[in-house]
Amino acid sequence: MVKFLLPAYTIRISDRAKYLRLRVSSEHGLEVIVPKDYDQTRIEPILLAKQAWITKTLGNAQARTEFHKSQPLLPSEVNLQAIAQIWQVNYEDNITTPKAGKYSENPNLKLLLNTNSPDLCHQLLRHWLLSMGDRYLAKELKRISLEIGLPFSKVTIRQQKTLWGSCSQSKNISLNYKLLFLPPALVRYVLIHELCHTIHLNHSSKFWKLVQKFEPNYLILDPQLRDVWQMVPAWAAN
Ligand SMILES: [Zn+2]
Repeated sequence: MVKFLLPAYTIRISDRAKYLRLRVSSEHGLEVIVPKDYDQTRIEPILLAKQAWITKTLGNAQARTEFHKSQPLLPSEVNLQAIAQIWQVNYEDNITTPKAGKYSENPNLKLLLNTNSPDLCHQLLRHWLLSMGDRYLAKELKRISLEIGLPFSKVTIRQQKTLWGSCSQSKNISLNYKLLFLPPALVRYVLIHELCHTIHLNHSSKFWKLVQKFEPNYLILDPQLRDVWQMVPAWAAN
Protein backbone atom coordinates (compact mmCIF):
# COMPACT_ATOMS: atom_id res chain seq x y z
CA MET A 1 0.00 0.00 0.00
CA VAL A 2 1.36 3.37 -0.94
CA LYS A 3 0.42 6.11 1.38
CA PHE A 4 -0.16 9.54 -0.09
CA LEU A 5 2.27 11.95 1.49
CA LEU A 6 0.53 15.11 2.45
CA PRO A 7 2.37 18.23 1.40
CA ALA A 8 3.42 20.63 4.12
CA TYR A 9 0.53 22.87 5.08
CA THR A 10 -0.28 25.56 7.57
CA ILE A 11 -3.45 25.85 9.57
CA ARG A 12 -5.02 29.23 9.91
CA ILE A 13 -7.84 29.81 12.38
CA SER A 14 -10.29 32.39 11.16
CA ASP A 15 -13.06 34.11 13.09
CA ARG A 16 -15.03 34.57 9.93
CA ALA A 17 -14.70 31.05 8.48
CA LYS A 18 -17.75 28.83 8.79
CA TYR A 19 -16.26 25.74 7.17
CA LEU A 20 -12.86 24.35 6.38
CA ARG A 21 -11.38 25.98 3.31
CA LEU A 22 -8.23 25.20 1.34
CA ARG A 23 -6.12 27.85 -0.27
CA VAL A 24 -3.08 27.34 -2.48
CA SER A 25 -0.62 30.05 -3.46
CA SER A 26 2.99 30.11 -4.53
CA GLU A 27 3.86 32.37 -1.56
CA HIS A 28 2.23 30.35 1.20
CA GLY A 29 1.84 26.85 -0.28
CA LEU A 30 -1.17 24.97 1.06
CA GLU A 31 -3.17 26.75 3.76
CA VAL A 32 -6.03 25.18 5.65
CA ILE A 33 -8.42 27.78 6.94
CA VAL A 34 -10.72 26.57 9.72
CA PRO A 35 -13.33 28.12 12.03
CA LYS A 36 -12.43 28.80 15.68
CA ASP A 37 -13.65 25.61 17.35
CA TYR A 38 -12.79 23.26 14.54
CA ASP A 39 -11.86 19.69 15.45
CA GLN A 40 -8.40 19.54 13.88
CA THR A 41 -8.32 15.74 13.68
CA ARG A 42 -10.74 16.13 10.78
CA ILE A 43 -8.21 18.00 8.67
CA GLU A 44 -6.01 15.14 7.43
CA PRO A 45 -8.85 12.91 6.18
CA ILE A 46 -10.19 15.89 4.23
CA LEU A 47 -6.77 16.60 2.74
CA LEU A 48 -6.42 12.94 1.77
CA ALA A 49 -9.79 13.02 0.05
CA LYS A 50 -8.74 16.14 -1.85
CA GLN A 51 -5.25 14.94 -2.76
CA ALA A 52 -5.79 15.04 -6.53
CA TRP A 53 -6.95 18.64 -6.40
CA ILE A 54 -4.16 19.65 -4.01
CA THR A 55 -1.43 18.07 -6.14
CA LYS A 56 -2.75 19.65 -9.31
CA THR A 57 -3.25 23.11 -7.79
CA LEU A 58 0.15 23.15 -6.08
CA GLY A 59 1.73 22.08 -9.38
CA ASN A 60 -0.01 24.90 -11.23
CA ALA A 61 1.06 27.49 -8.66
CA GLN A 62 4.64 26.27 -8.91
CA ALA A 63 4.61 26.30 -12.73
CA ARG A 64 3.33 29.85 -12.65
CA THR A 65 6.15 30.95 -10.33
CA GLU A 66 8.78 29.21 -12.48
CA PHE A 67 7.32 30.76 -15.61
CA HIS A 68 7.36 34.24 -14.10
CA LYS A 69 10.93 33.80 -12.84
CA SER A 70 12.06 32.84 -16.35
CA GLN A 71 10.90 36.14 -17.80
CA PRO A 72 13.16 39.14 -18.30
CA LEU A 73 12.85 41.78 -15.60
CA LEU A 74 12.10 44.56 -18.06
CA PRO A 75 10.18 43.64 -21.21
CA SER A 76 11.48 44.86 -24.57
CA GLU A 77 8.09 44.35 -26.12
CA VAL A 78 4.51 44.06 -24.94
CA ASN A 79 2.12 41.92 -26.96
CA LEU A 80 -1.44 43.15 -26.55
CA GLN A 81 -3.26 40.34 -28.36
CA ALA A 82 -6.70 41.75 -27.63
CA ILE A 83 -6.07 44.74 -29.85
CA ALA A 84 -3.45 43.18 -32.16
CA GLN A 85 -0.68 45.57 -31.15
CA ILE A 86 2.89 44.72 -30.28
CA TRP A 87 4.58 47.62 -28.55
CA GLN A 88 8.36 48.06 -28.43
CA VAL A 89 9.53 49.34 -25.06
CA ASN A 90 12.64 51.42 -24.55
CA TYR A 91 14.12 52.57 -21.28
CA GLU A 92 16.13 55.65 -20.61
CA ASP A 93 18.68 55.79 -17.87
CA ASN A 94 17.52 59.18 -16.79
CA ILE A 95 16.51 58.86 -13.18
CA THR A 96 18.00 62.18 -12.20
CA THR A 97 15.98 64.37 -14.52
CA PRO A 98 12.81 65.97 -13.16
CA LYS A 99 10.84 64.15 -15.85
CA ALA A 100 11.93 60.75 -14.54
CA GLY A 101 9.11 58.32 -13.99
CA LYS A 102 7.05 59.22 -17.03
CA TYR A 103 6.21 57.31 -20.16
CA SER A 104 5.57 58.59 -23.62
CA GLU A 105 3.90 56.92 -26.55
CA ASN A 106 5.06 57.20 -30.07
CA PRO A 107 2.45 56.62 -32.84
CA ASN A 108 4.31 53.67 -34.35
CA LEU A 109 3.78 51.53 -31.26
CA LYS A 110 6.87 52.58 -29.37
CA LEU A 111 6.76 53.24 -25.68
CA LEU A 112 9.53 55.16 -23.98
CA LEU A 113 10.02 54.95 -20.24
CA ASN A 114 12.00 57.72 -18.73
CA THR A 115 13.71 55.52 -16.14
CA ASN A 116 15.24 52.09 -15.88
CA SER A 117 14.55 51.35 -12.26
CA PRO A 118 12.63 48.04 -12.44
CA ASP A 119 10.05 48.91 -9.78
CA LEU A 120 9.26 52.26 -11.30
CA CYS A 121 9.16 50.75 -14.79
CA HIS A 122 6.68 48.11 -13.71
CA GLN A 123 4.54 50.76 -12.08
CA LEU A 124 4.63 52.92 -15.20
CA LEU A 125 3.83 49.96 -17.44
CA ARG A 126 0.82 49.17 -15.27
CA HIS A 127 -0.37 52.79 -15.47
CA TRP A 128 0.02 52.61 -19.20
CA LEU A 129 -2.01 49.38 -19.33
CA LEU A 130 -4.80 51.01 -17.33
CA SER A 131 -4.86 53.85 -19.83
CA MET A 132 -4.85 51.38 -22.76
CA GLY A 133 -7.73 49.58 -21.06
CA ASP A 134 -9.64 52.86 -20.81
CA ARG A 135 -9.05 53.51 -24.45
CA TYR A 136 -9.72 50.05 -25.89
CA LEU A 137 -11.53 47.74 -23.46
CA ALA A 138 -14.02 50.39 -22.36
CA LYS A 139 -14.72 51.28 -25.98
CA GLU A 140 -15.17 47.64 -26.94
CA LEU A 141 -17.59 47.15 -24.03
CA LYS A 142 -19.69 50.07 -25.26
CA ARG A 143 -19.66 48.68 -28.79
CA ILE A 144 -20.74 45.18 -27.74
CA SER A 145 -23.32 46.62 -25.34
CA LEU A 146 -24.97 48.40 -28.29
CA GLU A 147 -24.56 45.37 -30.53
CA ILE A 148 -26.40 43.00 -28.19
CA GLY A 149 -28.72 45.59 -26.66
CA LEU A 150 -27.65 45.23 -23.02
CA PRO A 151 -26.86 48.66 -21.50
CA PHE A 152 -24.64 49.19 -18.45
CA SER A 153 -24.03 52.23 -16.22
CA LYS A 154 -20.30 52.72 -15.96
CA VAL A 155 -17.11 50.88 -16.81
CA THR A 156 -13.91 50.94 -14.74
CA ILE A 157 -10.62 49.38 -15.77
CA ARG A 158 -8.82 47.82 -12.84
CA GLN A 159 -5.79 45.84 -11.93
CA GLN A 160 -7.28 42.73 -10.37
CA LYS A 161 -5.51 39.64 -9.22
CA THR A 162 -7.97 36.91 -10.09
CA LEU A 163 -11.10 38.34 -11.70
CA TRP A 164 -11.29 39.08 -15.41
CA GLY A 165 -14.34 41.22 -14.87
CA SER A 166 -17.28 41.87 -12.58
CA CYS A 167 -20.67 43.53 -12.64
CA SER A 168 -22.46 45.20 -9.73
CA GLN A 169 -26.13 45.47 -8.91
CA SER A 170 -26.16 49.01 -10.28
CA LYS A 171 -24.78 47.68 -13.60
CA ASN A 172 -21.29 49.06 -13.11
CA ILE A 173 -18.81 46.86 -14.89
CA SER A 174 -15.15 46.43 -13.90
CA LEU A 175 -12.69 44.98 -16.36
CA ASN A 176 -9.24 43.68 -15.60
CA TYR A 177 -6.53 45.33 -17.69
CA LYS A 178 -4.93 41.90 -18.10
CA LEU A 179 -7.65 41.21 -20.69
CA LEU A 180 -5.46 43.21 -23.09
CA PHE A 181 -3.11 40.21 -23.23
CA LEU A 182 -5.81 37.71 -24.25
CA PRO A 183 -7.02 36.78 -27.73
CA PRO A 184 -9.97 38.89 -28.98
CA ALA A 185 -12.43 35.96 -28.90
CA LEU A 186 -11.84 35.49 -25.16
CA VAL A 187 -12.10 39.22 -24.45
CA ARG A 188 -15.36 39.36 -26.35
CA TYR A 189 -16.65 36.43 -24.31
CA VAL A 190 -15.75 38.13 -20.98
CA LEU A 191 -17.46 41.36 -22.05
CA ILE A 192 -20.61 39.49 -23.13
CA HIS A 193 -20.52 37.52 -19.86
CA GLU A 194 -20.39 40.71 -17.77
CA LEU A 195 -23.07 42.43 -19.87
CA CYS A 196 -25.37 39.43 -19.30
CA HIS A 197 -24.87 39.97 -15.54
CA THR A 198 -26.72 43.29 -15.97
CA ILE A 199 -29.83 41.11 -16.39
CA HIS A 200 -28.98 38.13 -14.13
CA LEU A 201 -26.58 38.81 -11.25
CA ASN A 202 -25.83 35.10 -10.82
CA HIS A 203 -24.75 32.05 -12.76
CA SER A 204 -28.23 30.54 -13.04
CA SER A 205 -29.39 28.57 -16.07
CA LYS A 206 -31.25 31.69 -17.24
CA PHE A 207 -27.96 33.58 -17.16
CA TRP A 208 -26.14 30.94 -19.23
CA LYS A 209 -29.01 30.84 -21.71
CA LEU A 210 -28.61 34.56 -22.27
CA VAL A 211 -24.82 34.18 -22.65
CA GLN A 212 -25.38 31.40 -25.16
CA LYS A 213 -27.67 33.62 -27.19
CA PHE A 214 -24.84 36.08 -27.82
CA GLU A 215 -21.88 33.68 -27.63
CA PRO A 216 -22.80 30.15 -28.75
CA ASN A 217 -19.21 28.96 -28.03
CA TYR A 218 -19.26 29.95 -24.37
CA LEU A 219 -18.78 26.35 -23.18
CA ILE A 220 -15.46 26.20 -25.02
CA LEU A 221 -14.35 29.73 -24.17
CA ASP A 222 -15.18 29.82 -20.44
CA PRO A 223 -12.76 27.04 -19.34
CA GLN A 224 -10.00 28.56 -21.49
CA LEU A 225 -9.89 31.54 -19.16
CA ARG A 226 -8.35 29.30 -16.50
CA ASP A 227 -5.42 28.36 -18.72
CA VAL A 228 -4.40 31.69 -20.18
CA TRP A 229 -2.32 33.05 -17.30
CA GLN A 230 0.86 32.43 -19.34
CA MET A 231 -0.22 35.24 -21.63
CA VAL A 232 -0.02 37.77 -18.82
CA PRO A 233 3.58 38.84 -18.12
CA ALA A 234 4.83 38.75 -14.54
CA TRP A 235 5.18 42.53 -14.23
CA ALA A 236 1.51 42.96 -15.14
CA ALA A 237 0.30 40.12 -12.94
CA ASN A 238 1.50 41.59 -9.64
ZN1 LIG B 1 -20.03 35.71 -13.97
